[in-house]
Parts: sequence; structure tokens; C-alpha cells
Amino acid sequence: MTRTKRLGSFAWLGALLIAGLPLAGLARPVIAPPPSLTTVWSEANYDAAIPTTNSILGFEIGREMARHAEVTRYFEVLSAAAPERMKVFEYGESWEGRKLIYGVISSPKNIARLTDIKAAMKRLADPRKLAKGEAETLIQDNPAVVWLAYSVHGNEPGTTDAALMTAYHLLASRGDARVARMLDETLVVIVPLQNPDGRERFINSNQAARGLEPDPSPLSAERDEPWPGGRMNHYIFDMNRDWFTQTQPEMRAHVAIMLEWMPVAVADVHEMGTNQTYFFPPEADPLNPNLTSTQLKNVERIARNHAAWFDQFGLRYFNREIFDGFFPGYGSGWPNYQGAMSRAPRVAWWRSAQMGLCCTLLIQ
Ligand SMILES: [Zn+2]
Repeated sequence: MTRTKRLGSFAWLGALLIAGLPLAGLARPVIAPPPSLTTVWSEANYDAAIPTTNSILGFEIGREMARHAEVTRYFEVLSAAAPERMKVFEYGESWEGRKLIYGVISSPKNIARLTDIKAAMKRLADPRKLAKGEAETLIQDNPAVVWLAYSVHGNEPGTTDAALMTAYHLLASRGDARVARMLDETLVVIVPLQNPDGRERFINSNQAARGLEPDPSPLSAERDEPWPGGRMNHYIFDMNRDWFTQTQPEMRAHVAIMLEWMPVAVADVHEMGTNQTYFFPPEADPLNPNLTSTQLKNVERIARNHAAWFDQFGLRYFNREIFDGFFPGYGSGWPNYQGAMSRAPRVAWWRSAQMGLCCTLLIQ
């Protein structure tokens, strides 16, 4: 397979990140029923042997926010149900002692050779050490590592819920050529919850403020997050500014595994604020001058695929405004300087999202 062909596969993988628009309600009863995966992928045929969140956690995604312990448990259950296609690893601990985990999902053939693939990606990452033609051979013989990271901001909860749905869709889909191709050609790394301490703080405050009926007013207690909110970690640090300074243990651990795997495409998935449409790159000028023309070209290709899918679902979006591509301390920035194509799309803020394009937009 040529380099071009491989990069073609990255384009649709980039759209895995559209996850989310999650998801209604969170207060009980919900204002509108959250969409199910089959609402979005009506043609999907799911294998009953792969457990749903409902069967393990007792709620459908969108009805509740999955807590850190539930996220961890669901990933472990998925991996136990399909060990040949999913492995789960611990990569560190938050300040408050919560385990940080990630899952790796791919075809059985790829999962059986994780060590080899990791070594190949490392070699590929430094072309100065490669023999002539070796890069092409490595590309030909190995899947591309794609990195999907969620909820660095703990009060953007829909993204972690979307990570669970993404993992489920990849494992449970049967007879879906798009998913089969993804598993064959790529190794999907899912970091479902980068900031568990912030997410727990957010869920606690939200649940404590709920009434018998959900209240959609922006002035309602359930939507008035008390200081310090869930965006930041235990020490009130915005970890989406910490990628190169690496002062926080959660970020040091994340950087360490990323350097182990050297992904070629990275999505750091966020949510938008209330009453906004959706953002995905290209970002606003000025872009960092160290980004290469190849990276920029590939971002453009991925963005065009996103746009095609958003158009298909009738969703509004924007780019080249507000969010910059200059600062290297973002999750959308730092991986670029290790050679990846890294972006930070923003999907809907759960409070305003009543609709549900959920998870995996797999674009070919
Ligand atoms: Zn964010």
C-alpha cells in the first residue's frame, strides 16, 4: 500500500472524533430522549455478544454521564468480550489517585503484534535513522496509529461518553465494510478520560443541583457550575495548556504513552459552549510556522471529510475562527511537533445538545 493510500485512511479516521453531540439530558427525566447509535447509523448491525453501556452500567449514553469508575469498568468489559480486538492499559494516575487508562482497538492480526507495531512507528518517526526504502516498507507492513483523546476538560462530559460509544461501535459492528477497513488499516488508541478528577467534580456538582424535573434554563442551578468547576484538574490547572511544560502528572503520563506509540493522527476532542455551532480545524490564523505543508494539506483533507459528514447530518459548523493553531501547549498543538497531524475538534456542549449524531463518523 502506498503512502498516499495510507494517508487516505487517516482522513476518514480523523472523523472518529466527531463523537458526541451528546447528549441530552443528564438530569432525570431527560428533556428529550437521547439518540441511540442506531438512530445515527440506521444500517448498523451490532453483535449482541458485545455489551452495551446499558447492560453494564445501567444507562444508555446520554441518560447519565459515565463516572471514572464506570468508564474504566466498561473498557475492561469490552476488552474481555473481544480480547482479540481490544486491549486496555493503565498509563498513570491523577492527583486524586484515579487510574488513567487507554484502549487499543484493531483487527486480531494487528492486536497480536502490538510490540512490533509500536517499534515500527518509532522507527518511522525518525527518518534520519532509516535505510533507503525502509519507510515505505514500514508503512506497507503496519497499520497507522490513530489517537483519540477525550475530556481533558472535565466539564465537557459528552466527549468521554462518546469515547465509550466509539469503542462499542468499533467492536460491535458486524458486516460494516467501513469499520472492517478501519480495524485492518489502523490501530485506534482511545484515551477516554484525560481529566478524571475534573469530571468527577463536575458530575458531583451537577447531580447535587438537579431537581425532580430537568431545567433547560441557563440560569438553573444544575447549569450553574460552582467554582472551581470541572474544567481543570485537582490543582486547578488547565491541562490543555500543559503539553510542553508537563507540570501535571496526568499530562506527563499522557505524553509518555504518546511518545511510545508515535501516532500519525491525533484528535483531542472537546465540546463547544452553549448556543454555538461546531468547530473543527483548520484553525484561525496565524498558524504556527513550524507546521509543515504536508501536515496542513492533510488537515485540510480531514476537514473536508468532516464537512461532508456534517452536511449529511445537517449540522452547522465553522472553522478558521476563534481557535488558534499557534500555541504548542494544546493537545491539538504538541503532537504536531512529534510529526503527527493533530487537531482539536469541538463538538456540542451537552447542555445544548438535544440531537445526536453520536460517535464514530467513519469517513472514507
Ligand atoms: Zn475543552
